[in-house]
Amino acid sequence: MEIEIATIGGYEEVGRQMTAVRAGNDVVVFDMGLNLSKVLIHDNVETERMHSLDLIDMGAIPDDRVMSDLEGDVQAIVPTHGHLDHIGAISKLAHRYDAPIVASPFTLELVKQEIDSEEKFGVENDLRAMEAGETMSISEGVELEFVNVTHSVIDAINPVLHTPEGAVVYGLDKRIDHDPVIGDPIDMDRFRQIGDEGVLCYIEDCTNAGKKGRTPSESVARRHLKDALTSMEDYDGGIVATTFSSHIARVKSLVEFADDIGRQPVLLGRSMEKYSGTAERLDFVDFPDDLGMYGHRKSVDRTFEQIMSEGKEDYLPIVTGHQGEPRAMLTRMARGETPYELENGDKVVFSARVIPEPTNEGQRYQAERLLGMQGARIYDDIHVSGHLRREGHYEMLEALRPDNLIPAHQSMEGFAPYVDTAEAFGFEIGEDLHITRNGNMIQLVE
Ligand SMILES: [Zn+2]
Repeated sequence: MEIEIATIGGYEEVGRQMTAVRAGNDVVVFDMGLNLSKVLIHDNVETERMHSLDLIDMGAIPDDRVMSDLEGDVQAIVPTHGHLDHIGAISKLAHRYDAPIVASPFTLELVKQEIDSEEKFGVENDLRAMEAGETMSISEGVELEFVNVTHSVIDAINPVLHTPEGAVVYGLDKRIDHDPVIGDPIDMDRFRQIGDEGVLCYIEDCTNAGKKGRTPSESVARRHLKDALTSMEDYDGGIVATTFSSHIARVKSLVEFADDIGRQPVLLGRSMEKYSGTAERLDFVDFPDDLGMYGHRKSVDRTFEQIMSEGKEDYLPIVTGHQGEPRAMLTRMARGETPYELENGDKVVFSARVIPEPTNEGQRYQAERLLGMQGARIYDDIHVSGHLRREGHYEMLEALRPDNLIPAHQSMEGFAPYVDTAEAFGFEIGEDLHITRNGNMIQLVE
């Protein structure tokens, strides 16, 4: 059976991921993502109303015109997890393919919300939920399997396309976490079994390939967070925390530790309300009944007024804005645009790392300076990454022992350290290690 891989997006950058695998006459698409930084750099861009071709020209979504060079029919579109760089282009591209969108339940719900807010295109693809551990037949001899992985958003999977020529394992995005706070540990046993059965190709997320050692578990970030918040237990002023709103495990830890130090947690900001509300509705997390989640400006302001009148020492607002995004809640608080008044000595906890990108770094610097001007104390970097470091990559290669390797989810520069790891493992560029760009085809079996 002919096996061909189209590396469509995310092979020159982190963002707008899209890869297609052809097995005989059938094609499965993995991810359709958005590169948000290409959108945010322009003022007042509303992607909801934009045409796909304009977004492709901006470099915001994958240029899927290369799909016309793949001979075969798309049988499934498979987003791996709910981050926008993996699902954010579905509402702009999926309607061009007569195929269902197959995803884990939490991811699928986020995809549905993306489609609902789309204003330019009517996206009518079937939405099919599939759990980790389940399989779906694609055609005679070709089967799709979801393997449970751990990442900085819940319900992440690595899809595996089983073909008569061996398995194609799509390895974006994950860390090896045996104690992930929410959900099951990564299913390394299954990866080892798949390795024993034979892996034709492994496509791997190289985000942190340049970092030594292994990525710590989410339970380490949880302990770090507990340590920081407990140290503030006797402080009788304001404490504010911020993290990735899609990081439900972290939000859950913040909510629990707020209670431990005698404060009422409250989630503020549109995306806080969206992700935590969805996770609770789907039973991934059990928040206290009286946990407030507010996204709309009026209800947020009302909550801040209530906090100011009852006393900041009784509350822990958990807000958006960990990257200093200009319109996010924490930045508005820092600018004094909300009824919440920061005072000398108040504490701001960033349970996040600055995404190393000049725009983020500049915005975050500005937000921290504004917070500092009001006397706020900053607790930074209480976080672990969702991506494998070097030893994690080594562990995955040992488990899978693939015949071919394709690095992804990075720029050319970012691929280099992964190439070092792969070469140490015996892979050779031009032989079985395929360094590629957006828009290329790699024929593995002719
Ligand atoms: Zn991700």
